[in-house]
Amino acid sequence: MKAYVPEGSSNTETLWQTALEEIRPRISGSNFVRWFRPLRPVSLLKDQFVVEAPNLYIKDWFEANFSAVLAETISRLANRPLRVIVQVSSPKPTRPTSSHKGAQTPPPPTPPRQPNFPPQYTFENFVVGPSNQLAQAASLAVTKAPGGRYNPLFIYGGVGLGKTHLLCAIGNTLIRQARPWRIIYTTSEQFTAEYVAHIRTDKADAFRRKYRSECDILLIDDIQFIAGKDRTQEEFFHTFNALYDSGKQIVVTSDRFPHEIPGLEDRLRNRFEWGLIADIQSPEFETRLAIVRKKALQQNLSLPEEVAVFLAENIRSNIRQIEGALVRLAAFASLHAQPVTLPFAQEVLSGLLSAPVQNLQPEEILQEVASFYGLRVTDLTGKRRQRQVAEARQVAMFLTRELLGLSYPQIGQVFGGKNHTTVMAAVKKISELVETEGHFKSIVEALKGRLGPVR
Ligand code: ADP
Ligand code: MG
Repeated sequence: MKAYVPEGSSNTETLWQTALEEIRPRISGSNFVRWFRPLRPVSLLKDQFVVEAPNLYIKDWFEANFSAVLAETISRLANRPLRVIVQVSSPKPTRPTSSHKGAQTPPPPTPPRQPNFPPQYTFENFVVGPSNQLAQAASLAVTKAPGGRYNPLFIYGGVGLGKTHLLCAIGNTLIRQARPWRIIYTTSEQFTAEYVAHIRTDKADAFRRKYRSECDILLIDDIQFIAGKDRTQEEFFHTFNALYDSGKQIVVTSDRFPHEIPGLEDRLRNRFEWGLIADIQSPEFETRLAIVRKKALQQNLSLPEEVAVFLAENIRSNIRQIEGALVRLAAFASLHAQPVTLPFAQEVLSGLLSAPVQNLQPEEILQEVASFYGLRVTDLTGKRRQRQVAEARQVAMFLTRELLGLSYPQIGQVFGGKNHTTVMAAVKKISELVETEGHFKSIVEALKGRLGPVR
């Protein structure tokens, strides 16, 4: 179903929300929170879409990294070419503009001291079921007694199952407590980048002060990306010890169990086991249905029971996609002035629920798998037989077969001219492992989740 979205203020917001839901599953949750959340849609014109960023830092970063994906998405949704214009919101006048030098100095590129958690990521908004009960209860317990029994708390689970939501719920709850906790929320990627930047400018002390002595609660999202980065792991190890020894709370999330993160140092694995390790599994039907109902309510979308059941039955593995589907339904219902009926929902969501990944290229699979294992693409196309490399290569071959349906010889070509029998053996081996070993299944699911929307 194609929509032509006319210019205008109400459509600005609708288009923005719909685009966010489309983009969200395609980028990491932390990037989404960091770079998309702070933006506000301003206007939708004939050939451009204007958004506002709170500062120059976010504007620059967004333009360099995400403008293109936003432009592509909104152009497709609105069915006409749209450019994205990012403007910096005008600062509140504090004193009369005096020196023109002052006016031109960009705001400092440091994020605010107290993190800004997305307001909707609360415990009240988190639907509890058997699949996530332990992680939810442990997170809640942390807010009652930070640094207590569940320290560190290690939450792991597949993509879009609520890890970031719980982490931010902890943050949102603690921020509201009378005691002024000093909270740091970061991702392991951000932690790494920040550490490297401080080292480069000889400011390791400032970094250590911030993380070791000026922090009561450290929330680190997606810790798996620290794997393979030796100096950062070293730094994190000492950060961990300093915080732990002074009774500060540490919560980390990961897409995998500590022992299944390749390239993670044993001493860190060992530390993560000191507290509680809680998993989040894919929700079962009843929980999915409860989530559908809750999210619909939040969006003020009236959803007949049969449509709710249709969604809960068809979107199984990733809650972010449930939200995406609801936003899409709401947007189409409002743009076409139609009530949400089952046939309407089936039509609007048909592409979302059954289409194969569009335009996925073998190179993207190689890149995603390589980064997942902390390797380079050339390791996968090369000949090294080290266990870790061989496993990554076989998983990548398996995914290429499964997602793109290429022939064995074609896959051999993609992987640097390997024999088709090698590819066949790899695909067979991984299919078997996926059946028999839970952690392989989660690795493959996680990778599929990163490579694209529902299949
Ligand atoms: P992850 O970090 O595990 O990839 P997120 O925390 O980003 O996943 O969750 C994806 C989306 O699904 C978020 O918008 C979140 O609010 C929602 N979500 C996940 N689990 C639940 C739940 N149990 N109840 C309500 N919403 C949920
Ligand atoms: Mg996340």
